[in-house]
Amino acid sequence: MSKEKKDIRIKYYIRLLLVIFCVVILASGIIAYKSAAAELKKQLVNKCHAMAATIAAVIAEDSDGYAEFLNDMNVDSAYYKRMHDLMIKIRQENDDHFTYIYTQKFIKDNTFSFVLDGEPADSPLYTPPGVQEQMTWMDLLAFREQRAVLGSDFIKTDWGDLLSALVPIFHKDTGEFLGLAGADTDRAQYDAIIRIFIFQTAISITAAFVVFALCMRWLSGNVYRSIKKERDWANHLMFANKKLEKLSTTDELTKLNNRRSFSEYMDIIWEQNHRLKLPVTLLMIDIDCFKKYNDSLGHLEGDKALIAVAQCMKNNVKRETDFVARFGGEEFVCLLPFIQRKEAFDFAKILVTNVENMKIPHPASETSQYLTISAGMATVVPDNNNTQAQFIHEADRALYTAKKSGRNMVVVN
Ligand code: GH3
Ligand code: MG
Ligand code: MG
Repeated sequence: MSKEKKDIRIKYYIRLLLVIFCVVILASGIIAYKSAAAELKKQLVNKCHAMAATIAAVIAEDSDGYAEFLNDMNVDSAYYKRMHDLMIKIRQENDDHFTYIYTQKFIKDNTFSFVLDGEPADSPLYTPPGVQEQMTWMDLLAFREQRAVLGSDFIKTDWGDLLSALVPIFHKDTGEFLGLAGADTDRAQYDAIIRIFIFQTAISITAAFVVFALCMRWLSGNVYRSIKKERDWANHLMFANKKLEKLSTTDELTKLNNRRSFSEYMDIIWEQNHRLKLPVTLLMIDIDCFKKYNDSLGHLEGDKALIAVAQCMKNNVKRETDFVARFGGEEFVCLLPFIQRKEAFDFAKILVTNVENMKIPHPASETSQYLTISAGMATVVPDNNNTQAQFIHEADRALYTAKKSGRNMVVVN
């Protein structure tokens, strides 16, 4: 698998993992919310039940007093004052959980009247004894069966959405059914509690998500780092290989092609021109009096001069197929395929002139005040009667003649 594909795969898996994590978190959040909501309702109803049972017990303590009050509903009676104050106190002490506490008296089917409640007389929520109201299904069931009835969910009433519990009040001695005690929680109180839960859950989920995302980041960072390391290593190797390849075909000092790559190129051209029956020209070039140059100016200056001559040759070679190389020491070769003898000769002359025109001072030269070169030229159409070695030898002989004839010139074999 290619590295890019591997990269894409890993990215894909990490994203998939993140999506799965989000879905799981969201689903568990919804489930947690639903079960928490159901549990909270159950707990609130249980509290209402406990409160209503307490009120029923308190009232049953003075069953005769309550029974008498049920008959006359006298709000000025000492009994009412005492019990009303007690109800107010109970409700205020449990303000967090109960919106309403009250007792009810059966009037007729579907109708009851309020008896006691936990609101002060000046409160807008105060209901005087005797105020009648339509029964809910819960009231009806509790009155009919004279038993405790607990709501399972909110019921819509004139007083708002209420979670309620009703408990029967029986006469302490006779067991006579005196009515119901009730306690309600409204939706606002429920919402306030559930909001805290949502807030806490959201914080936990966010924390879990952040931790997960950080872990994923760390993990993906590690994966990417190892991939990058692998890739860097591969690049490094590739780079090193290229460098080696280049080194083996390039001359270190002049950066021209070396003798080895000249041989390889010569093989190709020789074979090709043999097939096409086309001429190929070789220039064997040698710097004049270079030993003396070194001797008078130093080896380092000699190196610089070699680089300058190499650059000059490179600049003069224009055609894609022409090939310049350092043959060794202060000798260079120039292979010019598919070119006529005359053209090649002109090229060689220009090269010789251009080197002298660089005006590199040569205090010890026998031919010029500047550094010069000599060139021997051979042109041949490769065939079965000649060889590469002969071809090179011919160019070399021409160079020898150029040296003998006074240097700084081109000689054609
Ligand atoms: P001629 O004109 O007959 O060619 O004389 P020459 O002095 O150029 O020839 P010779 O073969 O006697 O000397 C070649 C010199 O080239 C000797 C050697 O020190 C120098 N040379 C060869 N390679 C290098 C190199 O890489 N750097 C330097 N600075 N000198 C080199
Ligand atoms: Mg030489
Ligand atoms: Mg020389």
